[in-house]
Amino acid sequence: MPKPSPISPTVDFDRDGVQHGFLRLPYSRDDSAWGSVMIPICVVRNGEGPTALLTGANHGDEYEGPLALYELARTLEPGQVSGTVIIVPAMNYPAFRAGTRTSPIDKGNMNRSFPGRPDGTVTEKIADYFQRELLPRADLVFDFHSGGRTLDFLPYCAAHILPDKAQEAKAFAAVEAFSAPYSMKMREIDAVGMYDTAAEEMGKVFITTELGGGGTARAETVRIARRGIANVLRHAGILDGAVEKTPTRWLDMPSGDCFIFAEEDGMFETMADLGEDVHEGMVIARIHSIGRTGGPPQEIRAKMSGLLAARHFPGLIKTGDCMCVVAR
Ligand code: CA
Repeated sequence: MPKPSPISPTVDFDRDGVQHGFLRLPYSRDDSAWGSVMIPICVVRNGEGPTALLTGANHGDEYEGPLALYELARTLEPGQVSGTVIIVPAMNYPAFRAGTRTSPIDKGNMNRSFPGRPDGTVTEKIADYFQRELLPRADLVFDFHSGGRTLDFLPYCAAHILPDKAQEAKAFAAVEAFSAPYSMKMREIDAVGMYDTAAEEMGKVFITTELGGGGTARAETVRIARRGIANVLRHAGILDGAVEKTPTRWLDMPSGDCFIFAEEDGMFETMADLGEDVHEGMVIARIHSIGRTGGPPQEIRAKMSGLLAARHFPGLIKTGDCMCVVAR
C-alpha cells in the first residue's frame, strides 16, 4: 500500500458553498521547527455536476494564471456554478513566493515531478497530492502556463495531440472555447513527469496555455486569461452564461524541427518578432560573441516555415537554451 499523503486540506471538497483554505504540508526547517507550507486553495461547489481543477504557477515565475485564478476565487459565487470548481492559483507555492520557476526548497520543477512521492521532497509531495487526491476528482483539468523569465510566447491555449482521439477532440473543443488569439495542437520535447501527462493518462480533459512570459504579465495576456477561463467553465457547463467566442488561429507543431536550441553562448538577437511569418532557411536569430570585437555573429536558420511562436527572452543566451519555436 502506498503511504498516505502528508498534505491535509483545510477545505471539504464535498461541501456546497465557497471555501477559502489551504493544502497544509508539514515542512520542518530552521525558521519554523514544526512549520508547514500552506498552499492556498478555493473550492466553489453547488450540487452534483462536473468538477474543474484549475491551477496556476506550476512554474513559479508565470503570472497570467495566478492573476486570473486569485480573482476567480475572489469573485466566483456558488449560484453561478453547477458542480465544483477547485482553484489552486499557485501550485508550486514555494516557487511562486520566490518568483522562480522551480522550488527554492528542493529545486523541484513541478512539471517534471509527477507522479510524485508521499515520502519525497516538498515538490514531490505536492505532485503526489495532485496525482492521488485532486486529479481523480476532476473531469476537466486546466493548468495555466506562460514563458517565465527565460521565454516569451505568442498568447495561445493548447492541448496535446493524443492517441485517444475522443479525448483529444474534447480537449481541442475546450481550447477553441478559451478563445485565445492562437490555439495550439501541442507536442512535447519531453513529456515524462509532466502534470499534463498525469492528467491525460487518467483520461481527463487537459488544457493548458502559454500566454506570454519574461517573468511578468501584460494587460492583454491577463485579459485573455480571465476571459478564457470563464469561457472554458461555461463550455463545460459548470459556469452559467454563453461562451464569448472570438476568432482563434490554430497552430500546429508538426515535428521536432519546431525547436531551435543555442549551440553557443553569447548575446541573442531575434530577427523576427512573435507572430511574424518565417520561412525555412531564413535567418531568424543571431548569436553575437561578446568576448572580443571583430567576430561574425552565428546565424541561426529556421528549419521549417511557419510563424514565430516563442523566443528566448533574456538578452544573453547559453549553449542548450531554447532559442526559438516555430509553429505552423
Ligand atoms: Ca511553464
